[in-house]
Amino acid sequence: GTKPANYKRVMLKISGEALMGDQNYGLNPPTVARIANEVESVHKMGVEICMVIGGGNIFRGLQGSAQGMERTTADYMGMLATVMNALAMQSALEAKGIHTRVISAIRMDEVAEPYIRRRAVRHLEKKRICIFAAGTGNPYFTTDTAATLRANEMNCEAIFKGTKVDGVYDKDPQKFPDAKRYDIVTYDEVLQKHLGVMDASAIALARDNNLPIIVFSLDEPGGFQGILEGRGTSTRVHD
Ligand code: UDP
Repeated sequence: GTKPANYKRVMLKISGEALMGDQNYGLNPPTVARIANEVESVHKMGVEICMVIGGGNIFRGLQGSAQGMERTTADYMGMLATVMNALAMQSALEAKGIHTRVISAIRMDEVAEPYIRRRAVRHLEKKRICIFAAGTGNPYFTTDTAATLRANEMNCEAIFKGTKVDGVYDKDPQKFPDAKRYDIVTYDEVLQKHLGVMDASAIALARDNNLPIIVFSLDEPGGFQGILEGRGTSTRVHD
């Protein structure tokens, strides 16, 4: 059988771009299904799972405002993009028979549940996967901050940030072959050296609440489960 996990409840944060596959825009259903497989194997271990998915594969507020759109309006468009991604992930998970809830920070009752903390906790206790959508519900924030906020509210033991690379490097490993991976790095080092883990407000919020961030590769099949069982390479950000 599967080795027991070292964690009881976790937050998985992925960027919208992780859902694009080889495309340069939007959603690639086989890629969404592949990520759903990764999540399924962790769900089978009995771990309670929260998810936040970004929206950058569809729309980013900064991109809209650079084109002359009002920033807050553009940010709301970005938040709506995350709802589409959340629904795509819900669909892929439910196709496997996994119970999920999409919980939106912006009310849209026909599409998703509103965010009510105690209700979300109850879903997790019943082993339903909670996909938190629409970011924090506020402009000028990112989904990294939303993931950190919800992880704190849900008492997750850590945030798992799934990326294209297997941890945090001193420079971009896809550009520099001599880039070095950190096994462990402190929040302050991430902030001071501008290491591209998450944005500064998300890092600060994690630091102030002692929430570890584990950066790992989502491209590695079985990678998410392996990291939860203490195998594979990753970087742990903590104090
Ligand atoms: N966004 C926002 N408030 C939030 C979360 C997200 O305004 O709390 C907007 C923001 O415009 C952002 C977009 O939604 O650019 C998509 O989120 P993000 O850039 O974090 O997505 P990712 O890079 O993870 O795909």
